[in-house]
Amino acid sequence: MKIRSKLAWTYIILLVIGIITISAYSILTIRSFLLEEGEKQFERDALSLALAASSFKNDEQFDERIQQQAQLSRYEMAVYDKDGVRFLTFPEEAFENVAPYLGDSLMTELEQRDGNPIIQNKEQSPKLIAYVDLGQSDNAAQYLRISQDKGQYYAAVASIRHIIYAGMFFSIGAVIIVSFLFARYIAAPILHLNAAALDIARGNLDRKIDLKRNDEFGTLADSLNHMASTLRADNEKLKRLNEKQSQFFADITHEVRNPLHTISGALEMLELENLQPEKKKQYMKTAQKQILRVARLFEDIKTLQRYDFDESFITRKKIDLKELINEAEQAYQPIAEKKGLELVTTNICSCKVNADPDKIEQVLDNLISNAIKYTLKGKIEIGFEKKGEVAEIYVKDTGPGIGKEHLDRLFDRFYRTDKARSRDKGGTGLGLSVVKGILNAHQSDIKVESTVGKGSRFYFTLPILD
Ligand code: ADP
Repeated sequence: MKIRSKLAWTYIILLVIGIITISAYSILTIRSFLLEEGEKQFERDALSLALAASSFKNDEQFDERIQQQAQLSRYEMAVYDKDGVRFLTFPEEAFENVAPYLGDSLMTELEQRDGNPIIQNKEQSPKLIAYVDLGQSDNAAQYLRISQDKGQYYAAVASIRHIIYAGMFFSIGAVIIVSFLFARYIAAPILHLNAAALDIARGNLDRKIDLKRNDEFGTLADSLNHMASTLRADNEKLKRLNEKQSQFFADITHEVRNPLHTISGALEMLELENLQPEKKKQYMKTAQKQILRVARLFEDIKTLQRYDFDESFITRKKIDLKELINEAEQAYQPIAEKKGLELVTTNICSCKVNADPDKIEQVLDNLISNAIKYTLKGKIEIGFEKKGEVAEIYVKDTGPGIGKEHLDRLFDRFYRTDKARSRDKGGTGLGLSVVKGILNAHQSDIKVESTVGKGSRFYFTLPILD
């Protein structure tokens, strides 16, 4: 059964039960009210008829007057003498089955009542009966009996009952129509939301639910729209990640294939029997260089993979920049010297920062080795400047500089400004991506200022500790 029908039938059943209960209660209340009121009126009428009967003269018009009273009041009337014997009835046929005298107990009770009537309303009897003692009367009459069919009262109840029944059936008809319309109104947003949720589940993430309501349905529609847009964003992210991964693997294959070709060529040459020792040495060196390059490549990939899956792979400690920079300078001084470059540190004083020492060392290694690698003459400067709450660490060189067109993609994986030159120098094309990954994990970033022909300045910041 559909939600709309369920709602409609629920409303109908509840409202019909309500209408029937109210109608039944109304009928019963009105019925007992009418009977009570009728009985009270009957008692009042009995008293006034008794008063009239006792005042009639004992002459030949007595019977006629009683008859007139009975006709006017529409009650059946019987008059008894002081011994309780009936001597006048109107209409006669109404008393055919009634005893012609009053019982002693009834007469005693009437005397005790002191003029107040006795009302008899027996369940099994179809009539309402009143007996009254007339007391001191101007005629032979001592007791009066008046009666009336109860059906007269029930007739009013019956006509009211018909009115109520008619109202009840009209209300039930209206309830059925209104319930179906109301259920349709209530179920409309549910059906709308259901269709939209199914659509979203089928993958139509562009589906927008247009339900402007200030109730729970409106909130649910907003939540579904929000869910769809989050899914859409995640989907886009996954797509981009997938593309990036595919590109990454293609690049890795490419990067590994080249050194393997070189190694294979060198090994082939080494197989030659009458190879000069000098050449042999040269081929061995080439093979070794390429093996080192592949090893470095995998080392860099490992670091990047860790960064991709765990952005908080660093362990921060209190470290002194002075020590870190001095150590780097000592490590790279011989290499720089060998290339005829000057490697200097500037503005070095003790400065404690909060960072992962091994990872920051790796950052400096990459930046300094790049500076040495790409600079042909001049000097390389390593240092830092305090800027408020952070220290800005830099590596500056007098190398070839980097063209503006490369700056946007410089930190992308495997991006090189000059592919041949980078490979020639044993570069993997991942150094700066690793630097960026490490600094991002420190909530920092790598930046570069460069002028072609003059040199480059790579720099980043770390928070200073007191
Ligand atoms: P590579 O292994 O090729 O050095 P990197 O990611 O470390 O890879 O650097 C990416 C590219 O950025 C390099 O190929 C090079 O073209 C350029 N580059 C990096 N550092 C410098 C620098 N100090 N001077 C000039 N170019 C640089």
